[in-house]
Amino acid sequence: MKTNRETYIIGNWKMNQDLGAITHFLDEVSDLKTEHHAWIAPQALHIDKCMKLKSEHIQIGAQNCAHEDSGAFTGENSPKTIKELGAHFVIIGHSERRSLYSEGDELLYKKTLKALENELVVVFCIGETLEQREANKVEEVLASQLLNGLRDIDSKNVIIAYEPVWAIGTGVTASPEQAGDAHKFIRGFIDKNLKLEDAQETSILYGGSVKPENIEELMSHEDIDGGLVGGASLKPDSYIMLHKNA
Ligand code: PEP
Repeated sequence: MKTNRETYIIGNWKMNQDLGAITHFLDEVSDLKTEHHAWIAPQALHIDKCMKLKSEHIQIGAQNCAHEDSGAFTGENSPKTIKELGAHFVIIGHSERRSLYSEGDELLYKKTLKALENELVVVFCIGETLEQREANKVEEVLASQLLNGLRDIDSKNVIIAYEPVWAIGTGVTASPEQAGDAHKFIRGFIDKNLKLEDAQETSILYGGSVKPENIEELMSHEDIDGGLVGGASLKPDSYIMLHKNA
């Protein structure tokens, strides 16, 4: 039952927003009243600034983290440091990380373990490409990403984000039926095959061209517990409307 689950509107700012835009955004959302969790993932270099500017009801997270706390990993961001900065969560396995940086299941599994060890909530992203959808492989792909990335992880601190790759940043949104079917499958799969929290309690978010205009319909599906939002989370008015319409 959805009513038992936590709901979220998570903004993934990717490599966007300068300090002026961040200051304006966090000021504008400072008195946001919402029944959903309001989380924002800025560039890692801006986490510290966001922690100083944000109001209490906003949580800040990272878009990625390393699979180790320290060591010879030039250019990486340690999950330990992300935690020390005060961040609450980290996105792992975003399709841009999987495709542009060749992050595979094994690395994502290690990153998830390390992030959880550092008491960060993990927003674990999965999703199929258009080619895989057209080949009727949606469930196969989701099952493999879930099983390989989260196999023996026994934690309450994992949120799943279903993000069909063909819908990310394209303006094409999955229909509530397409998203709903995938979410139902994911919940059933967690129930049968994973050790995460009770599948009925696990929040599963949808991501892929979510906007204030379509979030209500998406979230009306019983298995959709919020959105992981890129473009429409950049402007405060739009982010506030996402919360109001969700
Ligand atoms: C994302 O960044 O995870 C995303 C879904 O982007 P957009 O909302 O712009 O499609």
